[in-house]
Amino acid sequence: MKYRHISDCHVHSNYSPDGADTVTMMCERAASLGLHAITITDHCECNEYVKSGYQDSIRASYLESKRASALFHPRIQVYSGIELGQATQDLFAAEDILDACDFDFVLASLHNIKGLPDFWELEYKAGETEVLLEQYFDQMQQLVEWGNFDSLAHLTYPLRYMVGEYGLEIDLGKYRERIDTILRTLVLQDKALEINTSGLRQKYGRSLPGMMVLRRFRELGGRFVTLGSDAHRWADVGAGIEDGMSLLKEAGFESFTVFVKREPKVLPIE
Ligand SMILES: [Zn+2]
Ligand SMILES: [Zn+2]
Repeated sequence: MKYRHISDCHVHSNYSPDGADTVTMMCERAASLGLHAITITDHCECNEYVKSGYQDSIRASYLESKRASALFHPRIQVYSGIELGQATQDLFAAEDILDACDFDFVLASLHNIKGLPDFWELEYKAGETEVLLEQYFDQMQQLVEWGNFDSLAHLTYPLRYMVGEYGLEIDLGKYRERIDTILRTLVLQDKALEINTSGLRQKYGRSLPGMMVLRRFRELGGRFVTLGSDAHRWADVGAGIEDGMSLLKEAGFESFTVFVKREPKVLPIE
């Protein structure tokens, strides 16, 4: 492998509705690849917390990752995390699950604009994406201001569908001020930004976010970046993480970050 300490800090087990494999299988795959660490981050969509049973599935995922941590030690470090979706759309749910489990890592994400379905379920037409993206970045800003998380997951998520699936051209320059404000708020609160490498193996073909945003995060004083494959099956564990580390290096960073007990652990890219 090109780098040491390769860590995949965003993977889903079958405790996520769209996850295929058990926590043990995900960890076994990571260990057999020789990864340094894996963080289990199952979905908790706060806006559907009770309706979709996340209050139970996340508690089960948490306990399973704790068991895996003991089982896989010292072959690989297994950390307990969560992908907390739409926290600001149900703050009670977000606080409830964060109180219930002693996570190592909290990833904050936004899969849908308040009142609309997930971005993957929407249909897109040229000329109709601007309002959606403005709302997306505005609601991302609210999420970052709320702040009870460690790293911001897959910023620019709608592009996976708008560009990757619908082939539309999106000029992110139009949202420069909004993106800068999000990045500045992360920096002020000492939060991390995630490079999500799922886009590299999908039609989109790029990381989420891409180089422009990574560079800007560094320029604005960002120090912590986490890397995640967003694997939903064992075969994708670790996918693209080394490419993500190379992108990070290209953007001027010399290190990446893994969260343990919600504290940043900075590791060199070497
Ligand atoms: Zn996500
Ligand atoms: Zn995810």
